[in-house]
Amino acid sequence: MIPAAFDYVAPSTVDEAVQALAGAGEDAKVLAGGQSLLPVLRMRLAAPSTIIDLGKIAELRGIREEGDGLVIGSMTTHYDVQRDHLIAEHAALLARVTDTVADPQVRHRGTFGGSLAHADPAGDLLAPALALDAEMVIAGMDGRRTVPAAEFFQDLFTTALAADEILVEVRVPKYTGWRAHYEKFNRVAQAWSMVGVAVTVRTEGGAVAEARIGLTNMASTPVRATAVEQALVGQAATAENIRAAAAHAAEGTSPTPDSNADVEFRQELARVLTGRAVTAAVTA
Ligand SMILES: Cc1cc2nc3c(=O)[nH]c(=O)nc-3n(C[C@H](O)[C@H](O)[C@H](O)COP(=O)(O)OP(=O)(O)OC[C@H]3O[C@@H](n4cnc5c(N)ncnc54)[C@H](O)[C@@H]3O)c2cc1C
Repeated sequence: MIPAAFDYVAPSTVDEAVQALAGAGEDAKVLAGGQSLLPVLRMRLAAPSTIIDLGKIAELRGIREEGDGLVIGSMTTHYDVQRDHLIAEHAALLARVTDTVADPQVRHRGTFGGSLAHADPAGDLLAPALALDAEMVIAGMDGRRTVPAAEFFQDLFTTALAADEILVEVRVPKYTGWRAHYEKFNRVAQAWSMVGVAVTVRTEGGAVAEARIGLTNMASTPVRATAVEQALVGQAATAENIRAAAAHAAEGTSPTPDSNADVEFRQELARVLTGRAVTAAVTA
């Protein structure tokens, strides 16, 4: 289908984009990679009066080191996250997860910030952002504010972003030397997650010293598997200990049943995939 007509603006700075958004009215939409927004427009599930295309704003692209963390521009594509050496060294979990997002075409257009702003509970990048304690830097007419991932994801397709705000960058602490793995369960290759488990661990002498685990599609927002993390820390990374810890994976989750899987099946998937992901991470 053809989208409804809209005005199109392509600013070249964040300030211009914020002003354009503020001046365009409540129903304006920001365009990033278009991988989620364009299908919605084509199906006429949304008909914004104005589209503000962030594609020409160079300052929104790229990954840099800043002190103890990395700063990822919101318009950095999945492809660029996948192959970035800073991500590989300091945030391996993001690389592992991004490897599983869709197909090469989508990864060349779709953006890190667009995925987080879209906040689809089946989106793979939300759980690692939560597990890694990422912070979202948001720009609006009143300046910039920083929101932790735990407060950013509020509900299905709902974030802390107001209609007149733009996600500018994502700050991620460095997890240098941590190992990582993502277990994604889907019905066909290159599809969205029915359930996903993002694990990153730091080991010391065969024991788990620190663990961070995020679950995809186990609630309307990403969920942190804190009971599993607590059960793992200080334990030898043996099959028995990992199995015992993974048994807690469904605690605190409230997955939505659909034609693919009911609640019990998703919770069993969370337990099984957590065991596999932790096992793979400690030996990565
Ligand atoms: C065939 C296909 C398969 C896919 N499979 C997967 C998958 O397996 N796993 C997965 O995680 N994702 C998957 N995706 C989604 C993909 O990861 C998209 O990149 C992502 O959903 C949206 O990113 P985008 O840059 O394209 O954003 P857009 O589609 O441009 O925008 C999405 C929404 O976010 C808003 N937005 C975007 N950027 C900003 C910003 N900086 N500030 C404020 N608001 C913003 C837009 O206004 C819009 O509402 C798939 C997409 C397709 C088409």
